[in-house]
Amino acid sequence: MFKLKKKDKVVVITGADKGKKGEVKQVFPAKNKVVVIGVNMLTKHKKPSKDKPGGIHKVEGSIDMSNVKIICPKCDKGVKVKFSKMQTGDKVRVCRKCGELMI
Ligand SMILES: [Zn+2]
Repeated sequence: MFKLKKKDKVVVITGADKGKKGEVKQVFPAKNKVVVIGVNMLTKHKKPSKDKPGGIHKVEGSIDMSNVKIICPKCDKGVKVKFSKMQTGDKVRVCRKCGELMI
């Protein structure tokens, strides 16, 4: 089980995009990487094709999972999460600070 999943709101805690907030677009558990919307934008040059004009396209590059923190809706900032086991046996993510459940 991973700490991050799609649609999580996260904040970047290190690197060039430090302080940027965004939504997790993709998770690569095997590589321990995530893609966050609007973070680590890479410029790609595309050749024109039949139906699309060429030019410069911006795409998000993946970043290390350890470079982001999930934003707790209650604390309203990046926090650490821990896993907690529910009575049903389901594992859930909980804010380390306030105990808020992260769905
Ligand atoms: Zn919290």
